[in-house]
Amino acid sequence: MENTVISEAAPQNTQASVEVIECTNPATGDSLGTVVVDTSADVQQAVERARAAQKVWAKSSFKKRKAVLSHISEYLLDHTDEICSQIVADAGKTFENALLGEIMPTCNKIAWLIKHSEKHLKPENVGSGILMHKKGRIDYVPLGVVACIIPWNYPLQNIISSLVAPLMAGNSVILKPSEQVAFSSQQFLKVIHQALAKEGISLDTVQIVQGFGPTGAALIDARVDKILFIGSVENGRRIIEASAKHITPVVMELGGKDPMIVCEDAHLEKAVHSAIGGCFINLGQNCVASERIIVHKNQYEDFCREVSSIANSMRQQVPSGPGVTDVGSLTSPHQIAIVEQLVNDAIAKGANVLAGGKRRTDLGQNFFPPTILTDLTDDMDIVSTEVFGPVMLIFKADSEADAIRMANDSNLGLQSSVITHDRQRGETIAKQIESGAVCINDFGLCYVNQDLPFGGTKYSGYGVMNGREGLRAYTTPKAILADRFPLEIPPKLFPVKPLDYEKSKASLQLLFKRSMKDKIKALLKVIGISIKAIFK
Ligand code: ADP
Repeated sequence: MENTVISEAAPQNTQASVEVIECTNPATGDSLGTVVVDTSADVQQAVERARAAQKVWAKSSFKKRKAVLSHISEYLLDHTDEICSQIVADAGKTFENALLGEIMPTCNKIAWLIKHSEKHLKPENVGSGILMHKKGRIDYVPLGVVACIIPWNYPLQNIISSLVAPLMAGNSVILKPSEQVAFSSQQFLKVIHQALAKEGISLDTVQIVQGFGPTGAALIDARVDKILFIGSVENGRRIIEASAKHITPVVMELGGKDPMIVCEDAHLEKAVHSAIGGCFINLGQNCVASERIIVHKNQYEDFCREVSSIANSMRQQVPSGPGVTDVGSLTSPHQIAIVEQLVNDAIAKGANVLAGGKRRTDLGQNFFPPTILTDLTDDMDIVSTEVFGPVMLIFKADSEADAIRMANDSNLGLQSSVITHDRQRGETIAKQIESGAVCINDFGLCYVNQDLPFGGTKYSGYGVMNGREGLRAYTTPKAILADRFPLEIPPKLFPVKPLDYEKSKASLQLLFKRSMKDKIKALLKVIGISIKAIFK
């Protein structure tokens, strides 16, 4: 929000009634400053301002909208080091992940929108079916105010990638970032605002409200026109319930427990690096992390040996600059506690540890190393619960059918992977996996292809974010039916005449009977009734 106070030093707020978020670098423990929590009244006012700003923005040209997005992208590319440092300080991740996992996909999404959005959003002429004297058109009308309630795992990417599609579609946007990354979120708002200012657009078109769960709840209560929620299944459920009050549509991007099937014929090195990347990018704090690696029994021993050798040699330390470490710290103290609890539970119940397994207190508060567990059984919570941390679970499959059964044995169905030398086998397996996307021969890269929709099945949510569908999701497809010819023929239905029923019945046959013979018969009947009606 415009009036959110941000203090870059120690907490300075003296008003007891003002709630603040204490922002900390999770890797070093250093204080970053405080951010003031917005009250329900603040949130309500933000929505009202956004609604006023949207009325103007909705009338803007595609040229102007593209220019705004282009300024955002250019800023990120011209200030890469500064932005990466801000991400690293707030999230504890490496500079490499900040660059490739945040700035790259954000610029990629913006580039896609600049290139493709106009053709997907411009009015579309469609057929008019049996109404041959009319013509049909779909106008993609902006919804109004879109709320994006987002998590902490990709502080920059979550913010900018969430807002650019609704913005491009002519909506104003209110972001509710995670309290865990409130500090950098406030900095990144400036990137968006400089872009709006350059084009003379009201800064109320994109706002941030800061706070915890109740701030997100206040945003839903304030009656927005669509909600994009990215977060946990539990909170997703709460948001769906709250959205019922105003019948607000929602896009739900919830958790994942993504499987990666390694087939008998998989190239070992390809499989190993796909699994390492899929699992340990951003220390597994990734909804599309490959948490469950299902390996054919003939590859199992070699696979376990190779992945554990790499995981055990990965460097972990405070990410003090580019190139110094493979992984940093986890972002959320709350999440590391969950990871630790799930791993401890599995070990206590007999899981075998091939790498990691214990919090690295020697490095700081929030360091958990790349961990690999085998010998997993269904009584271990980690087998079914999303870890959202650096833990690879390896399962042994006796056959392809066994692997597919194990992959589908989950309440979640976000993304998935299959690694095989045989492309046809990859396609056959892909068809049988219950998930929103399947990446054949790689980890969860589907998100990077902006032409593809991104979304899940089962408890992973519904609705999609990317591609044509993800863009049009921020519009109402408004149906327009207009006269094809400039003829003033009144649609006289009343009063009902004696032969109307018989004539309509024959017309029905004429329109929908399949055989030509039947159609001709019906046509003759229609003509006959019409002549009869004239002389009656
Ligand atoms: P994560 O742990 O991945 O951040 P969460 O579901 O905990 O996922 O949080 C995602 C976002 O949802 C955060 O911005 C959080 O503040 C917000 N949030 C949490 N609870 C609620 C709620 N009841 N209503 C609206 N937003 C909420």
